[in-house]
Amino acid sequence: MSKIKENLNKIEEKMDICCKKASRKRNDVQLVAVTKTASIEQIKEVYDLGYRVFGENRLPHFTEVTEYMNNYASMNDPIQWDMIGHMQRNKVKNFLPLSDRVHSLDSMRLANEIQKVADSLGRVVDVFLQVNCSGEQQKYGLAPEATAEIVDHVRSECSSIRLVGLMTMAAFTDDVSQVASSFRLARKTFDDINASGFAGSDFSRLSMGMTNDYEIAIAEGATDIRVGSAIFA
Ligand SMILES: *Cc1c(COP(=O)(O)O)cnc(C)c1O
Repeated sequence: MSKIKENLNKIEEKMDICCKKASRKRNDVQLVAVTKTASIEQIKEVYDLGYRVFGENRLPHFTEVTEYMNNYASMNDPIQWDMIGHMQRNKVKNFLPLSDRVHSLDSMRLANEIQKVADSLGRVVDVFLQVNCSGEQQKYGLAPEATAEIVDHVRSECSSIRLVGLMTMAAFTDDVSQVASSFRLARKTFDDINASGFAGSDFSRLSMGMTNDYEIAIAEGATDIRVGSAIFA
């Protein structure tokens, strides 16, 4: 068995166990295969094993792999590409044509730029609000208490943005309880936004969990886990 198949089998096994423990269905959790360090050959292998959702964050690699893989993928079974990283405003026009979903909306000004570019492309783009639930200074993301205002803004001014949920990154630590509490705060912020009724019915997803913490994230309600090194390293 190839290394990648072995890795994916291991991840699937863990996802199964986590979903069972949390009384969730495996199909309710989307594995986003993060390809930022992967070669085209490796990405093809993941596609051939049946995976269709991929995450990227750097423009040159994103451009190269989408160009190749969109040709490789069957038209009837296309790939969904997620922009998972911080997006500079002046790069929105480059990233958006490559991206089906954006995980990292973290400011009003970025929302306005995404709106402008999506509108000029004549499409509606699926977007997660990125929220900082770890309290770490250096991380991107909105403070939980700043999310309501941007939800309102997007819903009233940005008709080319469909808000699909929240994304977060946990504190960078081995302390499981600290990681879990970051995810729990994201979950609470997500529930609060939903309870407000302002976010709309598409606001249903929680993108959280990476190689080191996706099991904790599934336990805390993640619907999208973004996993790179556990697949490709
Ligand atoms: C790189 C990256 C991931 C994947 O990280 P791994 O630890 O390799 O699984 C997930 N989310 C974001 C935003 C990333 O930049």
